[in-house]
Amino acid sequence: MINLTGFICDMQFQMDLLTVKINSLEKSMKKLEDFHDEFKDVLKKDIQTHREMWDEVYKRLETIELYNITHQIKRIAQIERDLSTILKCGDLSEIRERLDELEQQKETECSDRPHKCPICNGDGKLPGVLLKNPDSKIEIYKAPCHVCDETGIVWG
Ligand SMILES: [Zn+2]
Repeated sequence: MINLTGFICDMQFQMDLLTVKINSLEKSMKKLEDFHDEFKDVLKKDIQTHREMWDEVYKRLETIELYNITHQIKRIAQIERDLSTILKCGDLSEIRERLDELEQQKETECSDRPHKCPICNGDGKLPGVLLKNPDSKIEIYKAPCHVCDETGIVWG
């Protein structure tokens, strides 16, 4: 009989202990839920901002690669034109003069490096103008930058 009472007391104690633990867990869960509710929008916005940032980086990289290729093609065309001019020269001194000219030109052009366009600040577009479109939404219209051909890059 004594043992049974002891056993029941012990069981009761264990039950109370479990109840305390469950309550504590519930409180922790509630805290986590609150945290999630409070920050889920912030985190979503953060992720979106990062995604946009990386999209922009990739877009600019593509532009740089594309522009580099265009630049190289232009250079090759120029060299081809120069070569045909040289080939038309009959005189060796003329060829030497032309070569000197080309050498100087090459030195100048080889120093060409890409720079952020100072007009549009690398955006490829000029600062925006606020416009109201037909469904009354206000939009920012950005005119294309003609200095850099909308690439955001100038060479020199
Ligand atoms: Zn520009």
